[in-house]
Amino acid sequence: MAVSDTASDNAAVGSAVPALEIKGLRKSFGPTEVLRGIDLSVAPHEVICLIGASGSGKSTLLRTVNLLEPVSAGDIWLSGQRITAPGIDANRVRQHIGIVFQAFNLFPHMTVLRNVTLGPVKALGVRPAQATEEARSLLTRFGLESKAGEYPDRLSGGQQQRVAIARALAMRPRLLLLDEVTSALDPELVAEVLDVIRELAGSGMTMLIATHEMGFARDIATRVAFLADGQIVEQAPPGELFTEPQDERTQRFLRRIT
Ligand code: ADP
Ligand code: MG
Repeated sequence: MAVSDTASDNAAVGSAVPALEIKGLRKSFGPTEVLRGIDLSVAPHEVICLIGASGSGKSTLLRTVNLLEPVSAGDIWLSGQRITAPGIDANRVRQHIGIVFQAFNLFPHMTVLRNVTLGPVKALGVRPAQATEEARSLLTRFGLESKAGEYPDRLSGGQQQRVAIARALAMRPRLLLLDEVTSALDPELVAEVLDVIRELAGSGMTMLIATHEMGFARDIATRVAFLADGQIVEQAPPGELFTEPQDERTQRFLRRIT
């Protein structure tokens, strides 16, 4: 089954259709249940920050949303379409969901420009000239216009991560997943990447962001979800969750890290 291109149009008209809906999601690796019943609904243009200790399941949740991991139980809808349905074309779904990881995984043997244009040309059938124009505009937006012809190893980690985000955006995703994209960066390079994400949030991009940057989460999240042991313990707007966490586990986590 293909991902219908009208789903998002319907969502725009109805506006009640969540950009992403997760219900009863469970994921086991062998005998170990890593996600234990996740429910999460993300409205269009929302920015959800996932926080929680290492091992709580943040990356697994993002990977299952992107269909990089099969779910053990439960369902996921993207703009109203059930992407966990049998026979769904996972590659097609992934074209609509951008994901950027902690490690800079640009293609090392391609220039920055090629890294950004490859997906649109190969997977979406965009004409090379148009893909190049869009890529240059994204690179300019992220302060990377002078790096178009460079190879990734000539760039700083912060620049590489901004290219990785530009590459994901070039696919015109409906949803962007960011998994601790600043965790591998030298401290002085973190801000330039967070600034790019902040700009994206301002432009209305729907995002699900796993992060340890609490100040950043507080700034940009419409909602923060605290995960522990594969469950969302509580979720609330940052002004509530950070100042008046309701659950004792959230309180303990926030005390430990601040
Ligand atoms: P987080 O991103 O919050 O640190 P993860 O989603 O990476 O958490 O991991 C959650 C749990 O799932 C951890 O206990 C981890 O060891 C386990 N896990 C993650 N991926 C796998 C895998 N491919 N096989 C087995 N266990 C895994
Ligand atoms: Mg992780």
